[in-house]
Amino acid sequence: MSTSDQAILQLFKDAGAFLEGHFLLTSGLHSPHYIEKFRVLEQPRITAELCKMIADTYRDEAPNVIVGPMTGGIILAHEVGKQLGVRAMFTERVDGQMAFRRGFALTPEDKVLLVEDIVTTGGSILEVRDVVKATGAEIVGLGLLVDRSGGIVDFGIPHKALLTLDVVTHQPDDCPLCQSGVPLQKPGRSNKK
Ligand SMILES: [Zn+2]
Repeated sequence: MSTSDQAILQLFKDAGAFLEGHFLLTSGLHSPHYIEKFRVLEQPRITAELCKMIADTYRDEAPNVIVGPMTGGIILAHEVGKQLGVRAMFTERVDGQMAFRRGFALTPEDKVLLVEDIVTTGGSILEVRDVVKATGAEIVGLGLLVDRSGGIVDFGIPHKALLTLDVVTHQPDDCPLCQSGVPLQKPGRSNKK
């Protein structure tokens, strides 16, 4: 892991966003690690620092619009857009389909930087990419906070993650944490009713 990756990982750990234990992931797999992105995103100063790194990476590409998917992507698009002095928009799901609402519109003259917080399989951000492409706008790149696929997702566009992690996962029927009786947590819901 590079020095910059280590620094970002430490920042996530310090914010309490990098959890260690025994977690049920959305994919159905079990993992000893979970990233709760909102422990970082709830701190505007840390979020601004991270967004500055994304903004600096793509400043020379001169995007004039930043686009991210609801929910984390709204915060990132807003902050990166603020730092680059350009518009920020977000996509959201309408009947399960990723789409622009609220009158957000792009033209073929627009140069778009996509942003996303955490990518595991890339599903959502690839849908955002296709929604933007359908407008004829140019996509200059994708800025990610964390790529936890270990860098294996093919985005089909230039991209850079501030932190690339190869997160350990286990099949539920072959999980050493289950076998040693560590209670399984379902993150993101444990502290809400
Ligand atoms: Zn398990």
